[in-house]
Amino acid sequence: MTTILEQGNISIHTENIFPIIKKWLYSDHEIFLRELISNAVDAIKKLKMVSRTGEYAGDTGEPEITIAIDKDKKTLSVSDNGIGMTADEVKKYINQVAFSSAEEFVQKYKSTPDEQIIGHFGLGFYSSFMVASRVEVDTLSYQAGAQAVHWSCDGSTQFELTESDRTDRGTTVTLTLMDEELDYLEPYRIKQLVTKYCDFMPFPIKFEGEQINKQKAPWKESPSSLSQEDYLEFYRYLYPFQEDPLLWVHLNTDYPFVVNGILYFPKLKPDVDVTKGQIKLFCNQVFVSDNCEEVIPRFLMPLRGVIDSTDIPLNVSRSFLQNDRTVRKIADYIAKKVGDRLKELYRDDREQYIRGWQDLGTFVKFGSMNDDKFKKQVEDILIYRTTYEGVGNRESGVGETELPAVQVQSEEGDVWQDVRPSESPSSGSATLDGKTYTTLKEYLERNKERHENRVYYCTDAASQATYVELHKSQGLEVLFMDSFIDSHFISFLEREYSDVKFSRVDADLDDTLIDKDQATEIVDPTTNKTRSEVIKELFTTALNKPKVTIRTEALKSDNAEAAPPAIVLLPETLRRMREMNALLMQQAVEFPEEHTLLVNTSHPLIQNLINISKGSVVQTSGPSPSAELATLICQHVYDLALMAQKGFDADGMKAFVERSNQVLTRLTQS
Ligand code: ADP
Repeated sequence: MTTILEQGNISIHTENIFPIIKKWLYSDHEIFLRELISNAVDAIKKLKMVSRTGEYAGDTGEPEITIAIDKDKKTLSVSDNGIGMTADEVKKYINQVAFSSAEEFVQKYKSTPDEQIIGHFGLGFYSSFMVASRVEVDTLSYQAGAQAVHWSCDGSTQFELTESDRTDRGTTVTLTLMDEELDYLEPYRIKQLVTKYCDFMPFPIKFEGEQINKQKAPWKESPSSLSQEDYLEFYRYLYPFQEDPLLWVHLNTDYPFVVNGILYFPKLKPDVDVTKGQIKLFCNQVFVSDNCEEVIPRFLMPLRGVIDSTDIPLNVSRSFLQNDRTVRKIADYIAKKVGDRLKELYRDDREQYIRGWQDLGTFVKFGSMNDDKFKKQVEDILIYRTTYEGVGNRESGVGETELPAVQVQSEEGDVWQDVRPSESPSSGSATLDGKTYTTLKEYLERNKERHENRVYYCTDAASQATYVELHKSQGLEVLFMDSFIDSHFISFLEREYSDVKFSRVDADLDDTLIDKDQATEIVDPTTNKTRSEVIKELFTTALNKPKVTIRTEALKSDNAEAAPPAIVLLPETLRRMREMNALLMQQAVEFPEEHTLLVNTSHPLIQNLINISKGSVVQTSGPSPSAELATLICQHVYDLALMAQKGFDADGMKAFVERSNQVLTRLTQS
């Protein structure tokens, strides 16, 4: 016969809090398990504490939390071998503490039921009533001579406390689940919830004889005790089937707030959704939320990993969190650490930095555009691939320190040429796999004499290759701004460097690329026409496209045949307007009908055209074969220039191939 120790009313002031809890937390029932397991963890920690202080001399045993289910009885229980409770403690902690904090919680949030509370954290013991029609506590305190007790409550404000015949120290909380909550009796569901919320809790959680949590939380360990492989393994565990990350930062601070965590830089995809964070938020190794959008600065959203802090208020609305001062400071701290880590990599391992730049760069650029402090932090480590080749052969020492260059052998065995070890992160262009990288500052400094405050850039290495080559042949340095974020980033740079002009290589030609002397040469003594005029006429007639402007220039080149016979130019402002429009309309940028065909009058092919077309002068009637050939060649030259810019669609390709055959046929006839 069990002795009834006490029956009574739970002292709460709200008529009945359970319906409110139930309704209010409707979508989040599953967190009851996290709350029960958290209490079990606390109970084990408390036992360790009283054992350490000598208050408890007995054996603490191996800490263990066990989950058990009984489908027939519809019960789920969580047991621990922690500190346990005496009858008085049950009365105090369960009847009073648990329920008064429940009441407080409900009072506080009753008025804001629509506001999403982050994590519903620390709801505690009473959250069991979201899923259970009856909750029982069976517990034996560590204290000498304690009497085990059994507490039971059916979800009303009535409870019953009786003696129990329990003999093991610790506590078992047993829930009799409501019929609509029987899902929690499924083993897969238990495992899923433990993995989600309790995976990194510091004691073993056992279910059906095996431990189902990982238990170790790497972010709580000291960075020096973790190897590369440990970090990678943790990443693979958190984000299975994903490419390995490029880099990580271990956060570890106690003052002025507690933050632990590991943040990873993943490889970025153009379709990365920067509004959805993938960083997991923890509080004391307990999972809180799958994203920390309010805690992490927006530009750090592409990062992945874990943030664990007890200083982030959790039972508050998301909008409150965003404006919380400590949270703002934590966000600043995280951003600073991320910037520091990037600078460290730039300084200590330029090779890896460059290797990862495609992704790191996107991130650094995104951050620069979004956060002023971060922008200043990374300014000097923002690099661009360049056509400059002076690093290897040391043609120019501008912007480089006078430290001796060293040959670096990378792990894969390829040589990273002549990397100057530099003290300051802002000095030294570097070359990797034949590609050279520079900072904008170095670029401007190096080219000050030739083109002050002017930057030539290319946005697509393949389609703009002709233009890049042309600039390069005249010693003009071109930067590659060809990653998916660069179109936005160029606009940003233009605002930042308002006195610098940024010109895309196919926008217009720099005067230094043009040989002005050649333009006035008279080639037709009968009409007194210059070469330019004759060629312009030929092309205008042959193409017959009013929207295409024909411009003739003699392009400078060491070898006339190496420069292209013609190129297509897209005026910068017009092109940008179109890009902007396409962006607004969410369409692909179409190639504009209006553009300029620049014909290179110093190219032998173009010069020969004049001779070919002259054949027609002696003809008396009808178009001569040579005039026809000249027309075909003009059209062909135009197509080649277009092809170098944008490629062809199906019709364009068909016409091009047909005409190629025609031209070749004509040539073999003559
Ligand atoms: P909190 O854990 O936030 O204090 P709870 O409502 O979850 O609030 O629990 C109230 C109190 O009940 C706890 O502070 C603790 O003293 C006691 N308690 C709950 N679960 C256990 C347990 N498994 N073992 C020992 N004491 C417990």
